[in-house]
Amino acid sequence: MENNMGDIESRSNSALQPGLIAGPCSAETREQVMAAASSLRSTLLGSGDRAWFRASLWKPRTRPGDFEGVGEIGLGWLADVKAELGLKVATEVAHPRHVDMALKSGVDLLWVGARTTTSPFLVQELANALKGVDVAVAIKNPMHADLMLWAGAVERLRGAGLKRLTGIHRGFSVHGQDKYRNPPMWQLAIDFKNIFPELPLYCDPSHITGRRDQVASVAQKSMDLGFDGLMIESHTEPEKAWTDAAQQITPHQLKELISGLVLRSATGSSGHNHIDALETMRAELDLLDDRLIGLLVRRMEISGEIGGYKRDHGMLILQKERWNQILKDHVDKAVDVGLDRAFISGLYKLIHQASIGIQSQAMEAPESVNKYP
Ligand code: PEP
Ligand code: MN
Repeated sequence: MENNMGDIESRSNSALQPGLIAGPCSAETREQVMAAASSLRSTLLGSGDRAWFRASLWKPRTRPGDFEGVGEIGLGWLADVKAELGLKVATEVAHPRHVDMALKSGVDLLWVGARTTTSPFLVQELANALKGVDVAVAIKNPMHADLMLWAGAVERLRGAGLKRLTGIHRGFSVHGQDKYRNPPMWQLAIDFKNIFPELPLYCDPSHITGRRDQVASVAQKSMDLGFDGLMIESHTEPEKAWTDAAQQITPHQLKELISGLVLRSATGSSGHNHIDALETMRAELDLLDDRLIGLLVRRMEISGEIGGYKRDHGMLILQKERWNQILKDHVDKAVDVGLDRAFISGLYKLIHQASIGIQSQAMEAPESVNKYP
């Protein structure tokens, strides 16, 4: 019986083997594309039918002047990958023109990038360009954590008659520093899966982490959560990549990552396919704890900088009135949003003590140690 997902099937309907979209962030030269595809070939073929070689030809860049992709010429290179290596190929489309060119050139899977999903106008234009075409399309979540925008993109493409759709979870952009480039906020992926239970959901640990040393652990986490496949960036010389150099891994590392994945059945003891709710909540807690630690580190760094400033301006470390005011304001705010008064004042006292300790150290340090703007 034909599965309505076509060749992107849900893991619950197929073997445990996750689907795989792998290849460099960007196509750079014909040689680079062929080298990556040849080195990834055995891993991709080992992943069965749900495997595609990826390379972006049109790069949405934050700042003008950055490398914006090789464009149309790269379609020929992807066609060569198909013809010479027998791999299915995938690229990002962000404009109806890209869709037309990619379809003419026989690209097997088109994906809508995170920046594009953010714009319903553009998604609708892509949907119009794809109307009546039977091609696999993957939809990344939007840059920011708006579930309905992601769902709306799926609905627009479905409305155009596309049947072979999949979601790609690539994390969400947040202001300030985080352990990850785009924190996953796993709960949003779970919510997406609940809206579209039949839609396969892939994870993109490359864009979530932004760091090659973290890609494997996030890939494993997504498998533990019951994701159906992975999109991973891989380059034969990652550190020389023209885009996203910090997050790409070598084809050899990718092979090891895939063979090292611990896969468990997507069917839990209750007998139905689900992304494990408990695992999801634990993953979210882990991330929040990482962020708490990151925030505390930054807070202490600033305390050190303040210590240096006070030293250079002959000020006292402990300014009691200011501290009492801060404590009162923060505790009141925290109590307003539901935290226990004793808990939050205890926590702030500990933080304050540690800050004072750091400021005292800074006071004793020579001038060059603690920099401030
Ligand atoms: C990419 O896959 O290279 C890319 C640009 O991803 P995203 O749209 O998730 O940022
Ligand atoms: Mn990339």
